[in-house]
Amino acid sequence: MAVDYQSLAVKGVQALSPYQPGKPIEELARELGLKPAEIIKLASNENPLGPSEKALAAAREALSEMCLYPDGNGFDLKQALSERFGVGMDQITLGNGSNDVLEVIARCFADRDSEVVFSQYAFAVYPLVTQAIGAKGVSVPAKDWGHDLDAMADAVTERTRLVFVANPNNPTGTVHTADAIEGFLAKIPEDVLVVLDEAYCEYLTGTEYPDGLELLERFPNLIVCRTFSKAWGLAALRVGYSISSPAIADILNRVRQPFNVDTVALAAATAVLGDEDYLNRSREVNTEGLKQLADGFDRMGLPYIPSAGNFIAVEVGKQALAIYHALLEHGVIVRPIAGYGMPEHLRVSVGLAKENERFLDALAEALSAAGEGG
Ligand SMILES: *Cc1c(COP(=O)(O)O)cnc(C)c1O
Repeated sequence: MAVDYQSLAVKGVQALSPYQPGKPIEELARELGLKPAEIIKLASNENPLGPSEKALAAAREALSEMCLYPDGNGFDLKQALSERFGVGMDQITLGNGSNDVLEVIARCFADRDSEVVFSQYAFAVYPLVTQAIGAKGVSVPAKDWGHDLDAMADAVTERTRLVFVANPNNPTGTVHTADAIEGFLAKIPEDVLVVLDEAYCEYLTGTEYPDGLELLERFPNLIVCRTFSKAWGLAALRVGYSISSPAIADILNRVRQPFNVDTVALAAATAVLGDEDYLNRSREVNTEGLKQLADGFDRMGLPYIPSAGNFIAVEVGKQALAIYHALLEHGVIVRPIAGYGMPEHLRVSVGLAKENERFLDALAEALSAAGEGG
């Protein structure tokens, strides 16, 4: 009798549908017979500036060590993070992207008997890692596309081990103030861990927003996750980290793979922390680009969700998928987010001014073509 090998996979894994990444430029180039340089990708919240020169130089130099295993403790990077943020090196857990850290957290602190709370429309990785370990995901209905923090606190039961909060959230770009986050944390029992995912925190400009690191002392059940993939421009190298109490970091560091961040990534991330100019330019380009996109949507009469991230979700209606495909024909890659339960929105990442303009022009054309087509 033939064995159904898929049926041997643990339950949560059998039901998993994989994370859907943005369409790669090379793939669209192959499909359309275009040159990669003719295509713009505004689909994965990548930094449109290209990499920092300092990061590039450090990465090139580190290549000569590729036959050696990396520093499994990531000493230099942890030291640089420790100095920048005034936290102990023993509070830091490095990951192969912060996705890696999110997964390690779930594996360390939840199991088949646990519940894990997150928001509707929150980052797809939370339900994914929850399901993979066979825990029960509790998706709390959103409020105005953002996290309903009161309802999330109410959703915590005796079985809850973990709560994921993305601030700002992806794909909606919604953000909570420091007061709201603190009020929420005060309601969560001390033996329930709260993961505050701050992948986009570098883009926040107002003083009303929280810096998760300042909350760690008062809330020892907090784990703050951050990444080098967005404002720091190192998405391909896969470096993220969490900062938590030393006790939690000790657990996470037992479970993560010993060499989960490679030598080139460690070198580039350490170097980019010293490139304040790059970070400032990332912020500037983003602030201007968000405004450019919002103005464009206003002109077209398209509703959008005001965003604190480096992307914006625009409501284009029932034809969203057709419009996505029409944009591809124009060589513009954005992200459909039907998988998030938002079938009438597209998420577009902020590009350089001329990329945003090209996207807006293509969108206007796609919309009028869709209108004519009925
Ligand atoms: C992009 C993103 C991450 C980080 O991804 P990595 O590249 O794995 O560091 C984490 N959380 C959210 C909400 C994101 O949007």
